[in-house]
Amino acid sequence: MAEDSTVVKNVCPLDCPDTCSMVVTIRSGAAVGLKGDPDHPFTRGFLCRKMARYLDRVYSDRRLLNPMKRVGPKGEGRFERITWDEALGTIAERFREVAASPDGPQAILPYSYYGTMGKIQASSLDRRFFHRMGASQLDRTICASAGGVGYEYTVGRGRLGADPLAAARCKLLVNWGSNTANTNSHLWSLMVEARKRRGATIVTVDPYRSPTAERSDWHVQPRPGTDAALALGLMHVIFRDGLEDRDYLERATVGAPRLRARVLEEYPPDRVAGITGVDVATIEAFARRLATEQPSLIRLNYGMQRHHGGGMAVRTIACLPAVIGSWRHHGGGALLTTSGTYDFDAFRLTRPDLSPPGTRLVNMNQLGEALAGELPGPPVRALYVYNSNPAAVAPNQAKVLQGLRRDDLFTVVHELFPTDTVDHADVVLPATSQLEHVDLMGSYGHHEVMYNPRSIEPRGECRSNADVFRALAARMGFEPELFPDDETLIREALGDGPSLRGVTLERLEAEGSIRLNLPEPYAPFADGVFPTPSGKCELYSERMARDGFDPLPTYIPPLEDPQSRPDLASRYPIQLLSPPRPSFLNSTFADSPRHREAAGDPTVEMADADARARGVADGAWVEVFNARGSFRARVALTGAVRPGVAVAAGIYWNKLSPGRSNVNATTPSALSDMGGGATFFDNLVEIRPITEAGPDSSLS
Ligand code: SF4
Repeated sequence: MAEDSTVVKNVCPLDCPDTCSMVVTIRSGAAVGLKGDPDHPFTRGFLCRKMARYLDRVYSDRRLLNPMKRVGPKGEGRFERITWDEALGTIAERFREVAASPDGPQAILPYSYYGTMGKIQASSLDRRFFHRMGASQLDRTICASAGGVGYEYTVGRGRLGADPLAAARCKLLVNWGSNTANTNSHLWSLMVEARKRRGATIVTVDPYRSPTAERSDWHVQPRPGTDAALALGLMHVIFRDGLEDRDYLERATVGAPRLRARVLEEYPPDRVAGITGVDVATIEAFARRLATEQPSLIRLNYGMQRHHGGGMAVRTIACLPAVIGSWRHHGGGALLTTSGTYDFDAFRLTRPDLSPPGTRLVNMNQLGEALAGELPGPPVRALYVYNSNPAAVAPNQAKVLQGLRRDDLFTVVHELFPTDTVDHADVVLPATSQLEHVDLMGSYGHHEVMYNPRSIEPRGECRSNADVFRALAARMGFEPELFPDDETLIREALGDGPSLRGVTLERLEAEGSIRLNLPEPYAPFADGVFPTPSGKCELYSERMARDGFDPLPTYIPPLEDPQSRPDLASRYPIQLLSPPRPSFLNSTFADSPRHREAAGDPTVEMADADARARGVADGAWVEVFNARGSFRARVALTGAVRPGVAVAAGIYWNKLSPGRSNVNATTPSALSDMGGGATFFDNLVEIRPITEAGPDSSLS
């Protein structure tokens, strides 16, 4: 190593459960090397291919480096440079003006998600700022809320689950709605280790033959949105054949007799086969192996939640480990997220008490409706976007774009790159990369708390989210003590909850990554005690009954499905799924030439029979459409979907797509059964040939 080189540890900021530790080499103030941390227990020395060349991104000449104001029509992306002083002054003036108007401060809407996952840069001073102002609150439900609520009804507060590091101990590993090999690659490597060392079987349950399904020992392929029915069919076989863990059911669950009666009566394998498209023999064999090959782990992920019945689907699958007693084993049970094990002091960090009582909550999946004035409350007159690219990632895209083009809407976008959303901004603020700011990181895929130092100076005039909200708060005349420095915020976030007791900023600065205080080995429900009202796993839930849900697991069909909506399916017969593309993370990286080259053109994977029926060949350009909108893609006959199903993996940027729209031109903004979640996959479409990608294509 050169004499002036130092090595620091940063943390991957992306919305990914692996939360990798990155070893960065700094020379003469510049980051010159980056690799996975070999000493981190989950990263184990490798980064995924998305992040392996993160330094290209940090030093990209496409970075936004100065504040700008719009000089052309909204959507064109024409801007001129301004000073921070002018940018902050303009924003503060417009916010004050809207807040003082008859519409009041609720006419201001923040919009963010987890483009950056850290506690400080994703959810601290931003929340305080908008709460203090009295702005509308944003319900951040685009990803995980449906399943989170469903899981919590069953397993309890904190959404606890199996120890991911113990996956290598398992005999049967089930990826349910999870493309683990691409979206949770460090867990996948442990699954592969279990296969090599213990002869474990890896099963993937997915309507799509994803890269994970491809590399699994067994692919079970239900029709989209029917996961709950499949799980109920598995339980039928398990109870019918006496494969349930009676001792565990008796001491650790509530409602086992009622669940047993329901599945035996209502979900025999032949009925389940009719709903799911999975044959009876597969249902029988899967149930037997799941019950008898222990420890078994079900990795539940987000795919199955993108349906109207997504919450109930997760709740239903979450019953299985209790029925078969897999929670008894270290590594066994279910794993949805580890985020609930972190006792960060979210209240202190975000100060919801600053928000006036009765402030409206806007569901982020309904941004289009909010901008169109279709939701209760005042019109949205000012929008502040950070850590997200809603013009590309939000559902019901035509409505979102129509709203973003409103001349009377004042839009601020804080970003690293000139995204589709930036093109609609009145004021653009340049954002720091993860190497240029401090942060505190939890994870939703492991149990380490991590520190991300500022390793290089911010490029150009870039500023972090926290810095900008401090500066805006000063302009607005808010109390300075509410907007302290990052160090104070980290100390507040660490609080003194049990899993973080003894974890201090000083220790984090010295050690980088510290395991939470959890028992060793960590098998959260081996003792049969659950953090639910009854203290047991709630197969029958009084709370659900009170909240208006079926208290027992059940199957809720998708809102758009040939079985439940034959009328709609007669016009739009194809069920379209839009999972992430391995080269991108949501829309992050979709502007990077290297990542785009790896991703190739937008594709729609179809069954051969569906392509033949429409006269389209492999590689041909087609239009995928429904009443909400359309996008263009190349047909890919990969054999990865059953007839009647198609997959368009994303998320491409609109302005870099042929036809200047992506898959979200077709996706709905309807909400899931629980948690106000997104229903991207309840999406019936039709597909027709077109002769070429079109004049706007920059990819063809
Ligand atoms: S696996 Fe996830 S956390 Fe790790 S580098 Fe890739 S995106 Fe980041």
